[in-house]
Amino acid sequence: MVVITAKGKKYHRPNCHTVKQYVKELTVDEARQLGYKPCKVCKP
Ligand SMILES: [Zn+2]
Repeated sequence: MVVITAKGKKYHRPNCHTVKQYVKELTVDEARQLGYKPCKVCKP
């Protein structure tokens, strides 16, 4: 599972240090379908 934030357009691993608070958990496929891109820090 990956997480997304309220403002960002990236998806992250739940333990990514750039994510202080996430709004939703979803699968990578779901995140991609919603137009999110992978975070360059946590490489989900
Ligand atoms: Zn990240």
